[in-house]
Amino acid sequence: MKGFLKTCWYEFLSLFVVKKVRYKVTGHCIKCGKCCQDIRIKDADNEKDFKLTQFFFPMYRRFVIKGKDENGDLILGCTLQNDDGTCSVYEKRPRLCRNFPKKYIYFNGILQDGCGFKVEPEKKFEDYL
Ligand code: SF4
Ligand code: SF4
Repeated sequence: MKGFLKTCWYEFLSLFVVKKVRYKVTGHCIKCGKCCQDIRIKDADNEKDFKLTQFFFPMYRRFVIKGKDENGDLILGCTLQNDDGTCSVYEKRPRLCRNFPKKYIYFNGILQDGCGFKVEPEKKFEDYL
C-alpha cells in the first residue's frame, strides 16, 4: 500500500515538476524496442501495489512484471509491443513513452544498452557551484 501511495504521489508531482535541471538529449531512436521491456517504476516494489496502480491508472494495464532492479523496484514490460520491437499503438502511446528519454527529469539515470540516445546534463555540477 505504501508503494502504491508513493506511485500516486509521483504521478501527481510529475504534472508540476519544476524544470530546473535540464538534460541534453542527442542521438535518435534506432527502434531496438529494449526500453519497452525495461520500464522502471520508482518505489513500486511488489505485485499487490502494482495491481492497485493498474486499477487506478488504466494506462499501466498494458504492463506486466518482468523482475526487479538493483533497488528492489519493479521492472515492467509492455504487452503492446510487436514482434519486431515496434509499438502496436504508436499513435496512441502514453505520455510515459512519448517523453522518453525526458529532457528535464531522468528518473533512474539509465538508458538501455545500445540505445541510440545519449542523455547528459546541460550544465556540469561545477557550473552550479
Ligand atoms: S532503447 Fe532507445 S533506441 Fe531502443 S527503442 Fe528505446 S529509445 Fe529507441
Ligand atoms: S505503449 Fe508502445 S511505446 Fe509504450 S511501452 Fe508499449 S510498446 Fe513501447
